[in-house]
Amino acid sequence: MGGYIIAIDQGTTSSRALVFAPDGHVVSIARHPVTQYYPRPGWVEHDPQELFATAARALSEAFEASGLSPADIEAVGITNQRETAILWDPVSGKSVYNAIVWQCRRTADICEALEKEGLGGYVKEKTGLLIDAYFSGTKFKWMLDNVDGLYERAAGGLLLGGTVDSWLIWNLTGRHVTDHSNASRTMLFDIKNLRWDDELCYALGVPRSILPEPVQNSEIYGRIKPGIPGLEALEGIPVCGSAGDQQAALFGQCCFDAGMTKNTYGTGCFAVMNTGGEILSSSSGLVSSVGWTVRGMTTYCLEGSVFNAGSAIQWLRDELGFFESSPQINDLAGSVPDTGGVYMVPAFTGLGAPYWDMDARGLICGITRGTGRAHIARAVLESIAFQTAMLIDAMEAGMSAPMKELRVDGGASASDFLMQFQADLLNIPVIRPSMVETTAAGAAYLAGLAAGVWADCRDLLRQRDTDRVFLPSMDESRRAAALNAWKDAVRRTLTK
Ligand code: ADP
Repeated sequence: MGGYIIAIDQGTTSSRALVFAPDGHVVSIARHPVTQYYPRPGWVEHDPQELFATAARALSEAFEASGLSPADIEAVGITNQRETAILWDPVSGKSVYNAIVWQCRRTADICEALEKEGLGGYVKEKTGLLIDAYFSGTKFKWMLDNVDGLYERAAGGLLLGGTVDSWLIWNLTGRHVTDHSNASRTMLFDIKNLRWDDELCYALGVPRSILPEPVQNSEIYGRIKPGIPGLEALEGIPVCGSAGDQQAALFGQCCFDAGMTKNTYGTGCFAVMNTGGEILSSSSGLVSSVGWTVRGMTTYCLEGSVFNAGSAIQWLRDELGFFESSPQINDLAGSVPDTGGVYMVPAFTGLGAPYWDMDARGLICGITRGTGRAHIARAVLESIAFQTAMLIDAMEAGMSAPMKELRVDGGASASDFLMQFQADLLNIPVIRPSMVETTAAGAAYLAGLAAGVWADCRDLLRQRDTDRVFLPSMDESRRAAALNAWKDAVRRTLTK
């Protein structure tokens, strides 16, 4: 047989592994939850040893469950939670501190200081990012500043650093590398020249020597080493694809050309647009990153997020007790023909692009004596589509051609009502693939291209199956009225 690929998907809540067949379908899946530690308010950590152990266990269990033999497995690919920072000792192989997770806000004051120093423009120009605690650069700095002796260890060559991709690849193969997509989320990486930026390393006090070698997203990084407990059967298999989760999802959705965009509807929404060889600069708080480098060609992407999407459905479920399980929102919302003029803005934690108001808070407006739970449920689903429409609008602003379609994934993309309303608001088709594991698929595709399972991206397009296409069916005047009413509701939440 041959041609099978295992993708490791190391996320914030779990480590998973999926075996993909040469025709792209999923043969088996294994999953282990990972522990999150909250040592102080706003701080989030993982145990790096647990991240690797759970990923390795998922890898071996997915392989076992597939019923395949080691000779069938051509390659291993990796996708990971981005921006989570780890420092480790290359001799003991152990981390020197817990992983500081992307969500962790402990470096907010470091970021404020960098902003005050006037570094914002430089960061944007070199890295495509905004100065924010979210990105890993200041997390490395925090560990170096707060854990005794790390600068000395770094000077003596006894300290290595990296994001989760680096940590997993180092543990699996012994090589210290990071792929371009992950590197571009550190705030230390020059995304145009694809190298660490000495000025930023200096400004953040991160010694260049601890950083991994930046590599393409699809190339052989190394082979699974002998002696990893549980992975004996997979020894020697090349690890040859890696990308951060959002970029992997864009690749897994086969958004290979400029202008193609995917939106993931989870707790929040993550929209990413392929901008081809061009780095787009946005004034609406969107960030640019490397999407991927494959066969020497670098593709960039523009990214924005909606902080609260599925979380608003969870709020109706858990705080207001509207229904017991999320999918039930669809029947409730569908029981009324419209929201009766009700709008809900789920600004629980402020509003992201294009508004950028962290102090904004949510509201429900337009309530009459006739407003019922169904109207509010419908307004909540609609709010997810409205927020996405505003985000996509900001993304499109810098593009020469209008967007042709939106590809979707994530838990809430299962809602037909939401997807139809999204198509109506954007006035373009919304395409939901049958393969919902787009993130893992992206990692498998990148690894499979390097291993020669697939010849090129055209080969991958043949794997793509559509579950459903939602065509826009709202007339222009209704769309304009709906968007205006939404903007009016948002205005009432803004604090500046
Ligand atoms: P995350 O990766 O952020 O945890 P998921 O992609 O698993 O999120 O999506 C979970 C979200 O999708 C939840 O907020 C849930 O309320 C919502 N959801 C799941 N199924 C449905 C459905 N059928 N209709 C609407 N929303 C749904």
